[in-house]
Amino acid sequence: MGYSRRDFLATAVVGSLSLGLEGQESKATEPARAATDPTTGKRPIIVCAKNGLNYLDEAFGMLRGGADTLDAALRVIRGPEDDPNNDSVGLGGIPNEEGVVELDACCMHGPTRRAGAVGGVRNIKNVSLVAKAVMEHTGHVMLVGEGAERFAVAQGFPRENLLTEHSRKIWMLWKEWQSSRDWWGPGIDAPNWKAPETVPDSELWQQRIQKLEEIAAGLAIEPEFRSAAIHRVLFPPTGTIHCSALNEKGEISGCTTTSGLAFKLPGRVGDSPIIGAGCYTDQDVGSAGATGTGEQNIKVAGAHTIVENMRRGMSPQEAGLDALKRIVRNFNGDHNKLRFMDMTYYVLRTDGAYACVSLWEGYSPTDPHGMAIHDGTRRIEKSVGLLKGNSQEFPPVPKIPPELLKNSDYYK
Ligand code: ASP
Repeated sequence: MGYSRRDFLATAVVGSLSLGLEGQESKATEPARAATDPTTGKRPIIVCAKNGLNYLDEAFGMLRGGADTLDAALRVIRGPEDDPNNDSVGLGGIPNEEGVVELDACCMHGPTRRAGAVGGVRNIKNVSLVAKAVMEHTGHVMLVGEGAERFAVAQGFPRENLLTEHSRKIWMLWKEWQSSRDWWGPGIDAPNWKAPETVPDSELWQQRIQKLEEIAAGLAIEPEFRSAAIHRVLFPPTGTIHCSALNEKGEISGCTTTSGLAFKLPGRVGDSPIIGAGCYTDQDVGSAGATGTGEQNIKVAGAHTIVENMRRGMSPQEAGLDALKRIVRNFNGDHNKLRFMDMTYYVLRTDGAYACVSLWEGYSPTDPHGMAIHDGTRRIEKSVGLLKGNSQEFPPVPKIPPELLKNSDYYK
């Protein structure tokens, strides 16, 4: 999920402010606001998460020039992996709770019907390419942890420190600020889980923010970066990029890469490297990928569910919305829990028809979910949200009172 720092700052706050109003299921049959889900589409075409937009021109040129569809898709997702300023993927990803960056990725090659994946990999930046190497140079599909790292080094990938100063400082701030609001304890799907109080008093928030400012100053976090760092601690970010590519001949491939959830438990692997959850590609049908709350996507095998839905005749949009409804079903439609999770699916059928659907409409009204597309024209289109309104960050933080936000520099 890609967003500018400014968008990021606006994201969770507006999301949390609108909780009282949102949560009604929008009509799944409503037409997309953008031109998604045409009966048939154009080929070649590449679709990806919004943070892949800047890499689409080159990848599209590769497809036009006859490059393999997986190589074109990997060109897109390697971009954010290499970018130290993208703190959701690859180099500079926000680390786990011990300050170590752990990356996950997978890929599927439609024409040869092969797959590769790696989970919990440390010290190697381009895990999407390592996933491809697993596919091409082993008889396995998935390698994890130390074994995956050693395999990558044997394949010639350089070992490097993935923790940038930027991400290290955010982690230090989180560490010093740490409360019980982390990934320990029962999950949101535990029967006794309760949402936190939604409105603590303003004074408490003022004190919290002031305390964070003091810690940030003590850690020598640059004044101009302080508000962004504090926001990431209050609202731990997620981030991932998926990409599917289809060429003129109808060959299709997909891949997904991520640094997973910020401050996750060491060893935690999300949906991104799970074939069938974070990505699934079937040469006979199409390809789908996901970004969002990995735990919930794993339980509905989202990408596989979508491709199978299309195989049975659903359009890309219907197929994606059906997978989202399974997540809603897993929580018996309880919006008090659903608001703490989100999911965006990127769907591409082998005839070029595509759709982007999401559980909620966005992080905020100014930051809707969407998908980057190149089919000769490079653009971003909004997703079709199953539920009206915006999600709230997880682990849940109490809602910040609006009167405090109005005067706060952090949320402008
Ligand atoms: N799906 C990713 C994970 O759970 C996170 C994300 O997409 O933001 O690891």
